[in-house]
Amino acid sequence: MNHEVVTKFGLDLRGALIGRTHPDYNEARKLYNAMVDKQPLLIARCADVADVTAAVNFGREQRLPIAIRGGGHNGPGFGSVDEGLVIDLSTMKGVRVDPTNSTVRVSPGCTSGDVDHATHPFGLAVPFGIVSTTGVAGLTLGGGTGHLTRKFGLTIDNLLEADVVLADGSFVTASKTVNADLLWALRGGGGNFGVVTSFLFQAHAVSMVFAGPMAWGQGHARAIMRAYRDFLPKASEELGLMIGLKMVPANSPFPKEFWGHRICLLVACYNGPESDAKKALAPLLSALPTPALNWTAMMPYPALQSMFDGLYPKGMQWYWRGDFVRELSDEAIDTHLEHAAKVPTELSLMHLYPIDGAVHRVGKNETAWSARDATWSMVIAGIDPKPQEAAQITRWTKAYWEALHPFNPGGGYSNFMMDDEGDARVKAAYGENYTRLAALKKKYDPTNLFRVNQNIRPAA
Ligand SMILES: Cc1cc2nc3c(=O)[nH]c(=O)nc-3n(C[C@H](O)[C@H](O)[C@H](O)COP(=O)(O)OP(=O)(O)OC[C@H]3O[C@@H](n4cnc5c(N)ncnc54)[C@H](O)[C@@H]3O)c2cc1C
Repeated sequence: MNHEVVTKFGLDLRGALIGRTHPDYNEARKLYNAMVDKQPLLIARCADVADVTAAVNFGREQRLPIAIRGGGHNGPGFGSVDEGLVIDLSTMKGVRVDPTNSTVRVSPGCTSGDVDHATHPFGLAVPFGIVSTTGVAGLTLGGGTGHLTRKFGLTIDNLLEADVVLADGSFVTASKTVNADLLWALRGGGGNFGVVTSFLFQAHAVSMVFAGPMAWGQGHARAIMRAYRDFLPKASEELGLMIGLKMVPANSPFPKEFWGHRICLLVACYNGPESDAKKALAPLLSALPTPALNWTAMMPYPALQSMFDGLYPKGMQWYWRGDFVRELSDEAIDTHLEHAAKVPTELSLMHLYPIDGAVHRVGKNETAWSARDATWSMVIAGIDPKPQEAAQITRWTKAYWEALHPFNPGGGYSNFMMDDEGDARVKAAYGENYTRLAALKKKYDPTNLFRVNQNIRPAA
């Protein structure tokens, strides 16, 4: 690349331009998933929309592959790209809460923890995921599931408006009244349509919640999974309740006698007083043995949101696969137990996140995210700090997923996919909405400039 062109680009930016000889290069290129090690040519750490526009124009004119980075949590590492340009939004932070309208404007470098921190004093929250270091941008554009999903829907169901820099460098706002087709596509279609520079969300009254994990030894897992499956559809929507199979990490604050034990875990989040939460949970818990660990309590909502952050710091090996799940048959449960028994490392896990309740009240074609008739989003994740475990956690995840996949309707959440699953899986993630997404890709990004993602190809 021409040195003068790069120098001029650097001078055009208010933020830093980090090339391979920059002292911050190695730190700046690191992703959350240390299994992915990419060597971009340039990282443009954008300070504002003008920087984003300059970066999009530069990348397009120089014919560079472009990656967009928000929180950097993406599993396959789509927040970076070899031999290309990273449009790094991670320092574009800012949250403005409008308590009169219960809305929140969020800059694209925010994590969900940044937003929870800003909204909590107003007694408000936006439904995001379950680890507070995850980027709002990538999570939202893929869909967004978490503890508040049953009551308030996916994150995209609460996305009211977005500012976007398009592939041709132009700036547009997408809302229900302006560029409504673009808003439709952004609600699940990932980073395919442009660089979002601002999000406007609907927030909800959430302050103190009765929440936390309960765990049983895996000897009880079959009974718990069956009871949970039967209980969830009838449970109050105030109750978020995810289920997981994993190990107790050999770490404080976990009691030593449980270290390394395989467990079945429920994580509850009831948006209301303790007495109501206990009533809501009673039909399930009264039929089950007393949990070996029960850390449920009243807590500020952000405490729940950041409860698992410490277990999953940046820099570990991650390989994951997902699927939408409609029904959890006895046979599927037995298959789960067979593979969970072989879990290779103490942080590896299987989670089922409920996507019923409010999610089902949005039509299949109302947003790009079409799996409105699924009951859970499943993720199987092999996780370990040691690079030498990468092959083993990958093998375990794939074998587990392949055994479960035949029980599921096809398609999975795009944010729980790697980059080795093929175009057919991307299409399956969107189902019947893929054709419209491809047409909108052609309208907004006809040359597929934004292709470092779960890629939707422009319609022919
Ligand atoms: C520990 C952990 C916990 C998680 N928990 C949940 C959960 O509870 N619920 C859930 O739904 N998901 C969850 N996820 C998945 C998460 O939603 C995805 O990994 C998501 O891609 C992370 O977004 P990010 O901004 O951090 O990632 P990045 O790597 O920064 O970006 C991911 C991709 O999003 C796109 N993108 C990012 N910013 C923009 C932008 N401003 N404009 C356009 N495109 C953009 C780009 O295509 C980019 O490649 C979790 C992930 C991890 C690692």
